[in-house]
Amino acid sequence: MRNRWRVVVLGPCFLIAMFAQAQSNPAKPADEVWAIRAGTLVDGRSDQPLHDKAIIIHGNRIEAVIDADALASRNIARVVNFAASVTVMPGMIESHTHIFLQGEDPAKGGYDVNILKYPLAYRAARATVSARRLLEQGFTTARDVETEGAGYGDIGIRDAINDGWIPGPRLFVVTKALSTTGGYPLEGFAPELDLPKGAQLADGPVEFRKATREQLGNGADWIKVYMTHRSWVDRDGHLQSQPTLTLDEIKAVVDEAHGWGKKVACHAYNGIGMRRALDGGCDSIEHGLELTDADIAQMVRQGTWYCATLTPYYYWNAPPDTPEGKRDRARVAVHGPSFQKALKAGVKIVFGTDAGSFEWTDPNSPIAAEFARMVEFGMTPMQAIRSATSMPAVMLDMEGQIGVVAPGAFADIIAVQGDPLRDVNVLKNVGFVLKDGKVFKNELR
Ligand SMILES: [Zn+2]
Repeated sequence: MRNRWRVVVLGPCFLIAMFAQAQSNPAKPADEVWAIRAGTLVDGRSDQPLHDKAIIIHGNRIEAVIDADALASRNIARVVNFAASVTVMPGMIESHTHIFLQGEDPAKGGYDVNILKYPLAYRAARATVSARRLLEQGFTTARDVETEGAGYGDIGIRDAINDGWIPGPRLFVVTKALSTTGGYPLEGFAPELDLPKGAQLADGPVEFRKATREQLGNGADWIKVYMTHRSWVDRDGHLQSQPTLTLDEIKAVVDEAHGWGKKVACHAYNGIGMRRALDGGCDSIEHGLELTDADIAQMVRQGTWYCATLTPYYYWNAPPDTPEGKRDRARVAVHGPSFQKALKAGVKIVFGTDAGSFEWTDPNSPIAAEFARMVEFGMTPMQAIRSATSMPAVMLDMEGQIGVVAPGAFADIIAVQGDPLRDVNVLKNVGFVLKDGKVFKNELR
């Protein structure tokens, strides 16, 4: 991609210095005032793009957004000037990732090998690369929804990013996630073996409350619960999902988490597990493959967030004549219509992909590919962008801090060549990434 990037007044040394600073450890944002001049600004909140604006940045915060014409009167020495064909936006927010997964190719042993054979340090090293991939693709914040057997590793990665040791997005982490006995891999081994699990398993409201306390006590930002586990197609061709926690169990989790001022993300496909998730007061539904009209009405009433993660269900399907293949196709058949109904009904939808369930490095599946799916199922490009900016900022209790280009927000800003309101796929090629006031990537030259 050929981009035009011009620096007015400011020489290349400034950019090199900023980039070098982003690499030094630990780094603090420069306490200086500079500006980005944007021909087109999608600020994350407004219905329409803004034109000819200047974003004044002071340290790691946005100080002001002014008319570009007024820049001259501000006596700002350093101004980064983007061409009119470039769109400037807030750093994006990914609401469903797994930095500790790497697609887990079945040919290489799949999910089980990941837990059974790789030392934790190896998995942590790979997670640092996943975190970097998010930032490279313009996602300056991510809610990472469980470590899949890597324990509290996400807290270490989150804190290492915050302290400036490694590059990565602002992470909101859930640590181990929760499910019931028989409700998560590793599975299928000799029952005599006491093997580790990819989530923390508990049974009964007391155990679930204790597990929630453990995770929050150890630094979890959110709690993640698997409300359904296996899924299959029944004799009538309908998708069925195994429910996990009882209503009493999920209520114990939600009550405990809310007492700490924290929220609960619930993986739920459909059926009994979905109803328990909603009756139990889960704050977000993850995947939500088959939402009934009653589910949707309840989500609207309760203000439940919906993170559909469309990408992985289209990414790969088992051969059509196998039970798994039939299940995979049944998932796809109900998912899009559920998304459309939820959108029409006004459910609050946030952008998330389940990245890690597919490879972070797959050139055919960049994170932003999800945008086109969301638009295909009825969102306007602006709605899809807001689902990855100002909407999840509210969900994460960070409204006005992230997901918006506005005074007082963190200086998390990206730029892309082209107009994402015309073609959301341009978001697959984010050329400029500023996080916390520091330039991480600049390919818009
Ligand atoms: Zn997931």
